[in-house]
Amino acid sequence: MQDIPVVDFHAHLGNWGRFGMLDTPELFLSCMDNAGIDLACLNCIFYGDSYRGNDRVAEYVRKWPKRFAGAAFISANYPEEMVPELERCFGPLGMKFIKIYPHYVRVSHDDPLYFPIYEFANERGLAIMSHATHYFDPPSVSVYKRYENLVKRFPKINWVMAHAGGGTSSEVMRAVRDFPTIYVETCSSGLRNGGIEYAVKNGRADRVLFGTDMPLLDAAQQLAKVIVCQITDEEKKMVLGGNAIRLLNLKL
Ligand SMILES: [Zn+2]
Repeated sequence: MQDIPVVDFHAHLGNWGRFGMLDTPELFLSCMDNAGIDLACLNCIFYGDSYRGNDRVAEYVRKWPKRFAGAAFISANYPEEMVPELERCFGPLGMKFIKIYPHYVRVSHDDPLYFPIYEFANERGLAIMSHATHYFDPPSVSVYKRYENLVKRFPKINWVMAHAGGGTSSEVMRAVRDFPTIYVETCSSGLRNGGIEYAVKNGRADRVLFGTDMPLLDAAQQLAKVIVCQITDEEKKMVLGGNAIRLLNLKL
């Protein structure tokens, strides 16, 4: 297992002093080294606008191209800035995928508000990571239906459900099985018994992506739950890095 490349799909760049993480490259790198993470995909959602955070991410990637890859945070708070910022992120900044965070606008990510982002991503076959459900969703919401609609409308986008869609539920895994462009990412503050095994066996091993939520969560703890779970070494290799390398065309 030691030579398996480990890619963290879900790392937040920024200060989160309450959790002992600061926007300091040395600190990020030492956390990654301690946990055994080769490369972290950074997104920065902690500034009011997208530009500053994306610039900060690009700075890290420029300095440590073998340790960091960039995820472009696109804020729906400023709809008129979405496409120009996408062009900047996927032009000069060299980002690898898109991160959206509907919490800030309280509008779910299947709303037409986001469609300019999706049209851009669909033309280029990009991946987009978002929470699959939101605290402001009506109780009747169906994750399956939500993603079925998105997948049909934007078939070339790879949809990454952060936190495995809020838990590796049977409905989420049914969506993973039915739609080849849906992925789930593993970070979570809690995980039901056998959650990773369920995602791999009832979803698909080639569509599960390891993530840490660093600095909000401890990277080593997030890694441990994949390393010790009851799936094959080949499946662990896919989850821990192989799938991300393929999806983002990373050179490690
Ligand atoms: Zn997160």
